[in-house]
Amino acid sequence: MQAELQRLQQVLELISLDGCQTNALAAHFGEQRQQPCGHCSWCTKGASRIPQRQVSRIDDAIWQQVENLKDEQPAMATNPRMLTRLLCGITSPRLSRNKMTGHSLFGSLEHVPFAEVLSKAVQSMDVGNAVSEDPQLTQ
Ligand SMILES: [Zn+2]
Repeated sequence: MQAELQRLQQVLELISLDGCQTNALAAHFGEQRQQPCGHCSWCTKGASRIPQRQVSRIDDAIWQQVENLKDEQPAMATNPRMLTRLLCGITSPRLSRNKMTGHSLFGSLEHVPFAEVLSKAVQSMDVGNAVSEDPQLTQ
C-alpha cells in the first residue's frame, strides 16, 4: 500500500510538472533527452500556448464589423461593456431589447476572455468619439 501511494505521488508529480513529461519519465529511468518529445500533454499544450500569447485572438474582420456597428447601433457600439457582452455572447435585457442577441456579432468572440475583449473595446472607444455618459459603464 505504501509503495502504491508513492507511485501515485510520482505520477501526480509528473502530471503537474512544468516540462516535457516524456523527458521527465526518461530522466526517471536514467536517460537524458535533449529535446521535448512534442507529443505528451505538456508539449501539445505548450505548443498551443505560445502562438496565443503572441497573436491577438481578436479577429480584425470582427473588429471591422464592430466599426460598422457604430453606425448601425451607436448606443451599443460606444458602450464598452455592452459591446463586450455582445461579442462574448452574454445576454442582457438591453441586448435582447435591441434584438442584438440575433446579430451576427453576438458570441463572435466567445473564445476570447471577457477582460481581453473589454480592454480592446475600451481602447477602440478612446481613439473614437468620447464615450457618452451611461450608467451601465459604472457597473
Ligand atoms: Zn513532451
